[in-house]
Amino acid sequence: MSEKLNNEDQKSKYHKIRMERKKAQIDAAIASATQKKGLLLVITGNGKGKSTSGFGMVARALGHGLKVGVCQFIKSRTDTGEEAFFKTHPKCEWHVLGDGFTWDTQDRAGDIATSERGWAIATQMLQDPSFDLVVLDELTYLLSYEYLDKDTVLNTISHRPDMQHVVVTGRSAIAELRDMADTVSDIKDEKHAFTSGIQAQPGFDF
Ligand code: ATP
Ligand code: MG
Repeated sequence: MSEKLNNEDQKSKYHKIRMERKKAQIDAAIASATQKKGLLLVITGNGKGKSTSGFGMVARALGHGLKVGVCQFIKSRTDTGEEAFFKTHPKCEWHVLGDGFTWDTQDRAGDIATSERGWAIATQMLQDPSFDLVVLDELTYLLSYEYLDKDTVLNTISHRPDMQHVVVTGRSAIAELRDMADTVSDIKDEKHAFTSGIQAQPGFDF
């Protein structure tokens, strides 16, 4: 019994020493992070959670009273929970700008025309400093399929207002976009319910 207690005492002592060291390191890192600027976040990879992460940031920004713009490319559905929830918020502007998945449309010329119309709306947001956060959901496909001119897109993003944050989501983000970004998260697909035959469900997948 007393040996066990001693063991716990030792563990507590070492834990305290480790945490003191850790706190010193973290405090130093926080003190050296002094810059503030509009950030570009790219959320890519094959795993689930890219768009929902972007929409989590929409909630976070609105909670701080910031103005948010969301452009949803590729997808055409207007019955998502996120749109129903956020569209009524006075500080959130929401646009669904797609015609459907590329394998449904099977129409490259049509997809390009739709992408260009959608990009015109995104461009307005990216030139308007009143938007604090702009989420470009599934934009990566418009670059990887070359539906939009890469230089135009990257230039518009890099010349946006100084304090404006941008989130880009979608699989297969091109290297130039990853290079430009301040933060890149690559979501790994370890397993997904869909591959076990479970359908996309409201409130969970859309
Ligand atoms: P979510 O919107 O759930 O965050 P996502 O943005 O990461 O997903 P998308 O490629 O946009 O991923 O996914 C579109 C749809 O495909 C969503 O319904 C999502 O649940 C589903 N999905 C996402 N990842 C996978 C996967 N690895 N395998 C099968 N289906 C997936
Ligand atoms: Mg998505």
